[in-house]
Amino acid sequence: MQVPLLDLKQQYAMLKEEILQEISEVCDSQQFILGEKVSIFEKQVADYCNAAYGCGVTSGSDALLLALMAEKIGPGDEVITSAYSFFATAGAICRVGATPVFIDIEPLHYGINPDQLEAAITTRTKAIIPVHLFGQSVNMPPVLKLADKHGLCVIEDTCQAIGAEYDGHRCGSQSHYSCLSFFPSKNLGAFGDAGMVLCNDQKRYETLKILRNHGMNPQYHHKVIGSNFRIDALQAAILSCKIKHLDSWTEGRQKNRADYQELFKDCDEYLTLPSEAPWCTRHVWNQFVIRIKNGHRDLVWDRLKQEGVGCAVYYPIPLHLQECFLSLGWKKGDFPVSEAAAAESLALPIFPELSHIQKNHVARSLLNILREVNN
Ligand SMILES: *Cc1c(COP(=O)(O)O)cnc(C)c1O
Repeated sequence: MQVPLLDLKQQYAMLKEEILQEISEVCDSQQFILGEKVSIFEKQVADYCNAAYGCGVTSGSDALLLALMAEKIGPGDEVITSAYSFFATAGAICRVGATPVFIDIEPLHYGINPDQLEAAITTRTKAIIPVHLFGQSVNMPPVLKLADKHGLCVIEDTCQAIGAEYDGHRCGSQSHYSCLSFFPSKNLGAFGDAGMVLCNDQKRYETLKILRNHGMNPQYHHKVIGSNFRIDALQAAILSCKIKHLDSWTEGRQKNRADYQELFKDCDEYLTLPSEAPWCTRHVWNQFVIRIKNGHRDLVWDRLKQEGVGCAVYYPIPLHLQECFLSLGWKKGDFPVSEAAAAESLALPIFPELSHIQKNHVARSLLNILREVNN
């Protein structure tokens, strides 16, 4: 039996007619750049996240870049972020010429540890990028409080966590910016690349819109340098149709998590299940990431793939140990919690349409392998 890590075909089959209709409307209008479909989608997402404004962009990576550009962050500036994330978080900081300053994650929940934040703040610090990894919110209240105290900008990396909440607040509703990705494997996925920057004040929103279009305002007049970061109308139209189903897909993910919890309930000896942080009042389970104990992760990963179970490691190398950041001077041992996560984590299939039979196959295969490798 084959269980893919992600199967998008079922979701498409369910929405095929509706989506093809949307695509056909865009084709008939021949309005491909920005326009009404984009405005409608931006409002839908901002409303969904309780944010004031949404600015649709080309990808989650560009959303991060654009937010940093809008804050005029550049050479000589420092931006604090997590040592454990997808590369784009740190990549965006470097692309504006600023320096990423990493801090470690919480022992159980993969978000930056607010206890380490204040010690990392210097006179050069301009912003903090907390990353809501795997669909779970960072412990935001202390982050927002420290940012306020030191006059820092907070740019949430919400690429994996659209709709997640902390203390009842949606990610993106309380900070300066929140960056979303609609890469196909995210909870709300486009038919290609797309992203969005959410923000909560009008001045920032105007700046984002100008920078997204080459810094042009009015036409052919450029007071600032931006680039082409515009979302495609086709992607916006497709996503507009999909966002109506996002809550039910999130429920599907939450149900899968509950089922795995039951299936793996007696396995503490071999693995650690993901847990929900006390501050996280809505976990949207973009990934179900377990920890394989006793140094067996790579072996289990290989064997599980042989059994037809799609699984992946997010991420095998923490950011501070990436070759391109060698010159920043970080070394092994600097962030032990991130390093342990990189060595032990393994993501299992959790997409909403996963069937009971598939979940049972994942659990049975994994348990057999764990017993075998631990003997
Ligand atoms: C996916 C992702 C990004 C980048 O989004 P793209 O749309 O692929 O550019 C950034 N940060 C995190 C945490 C992500 O998961």
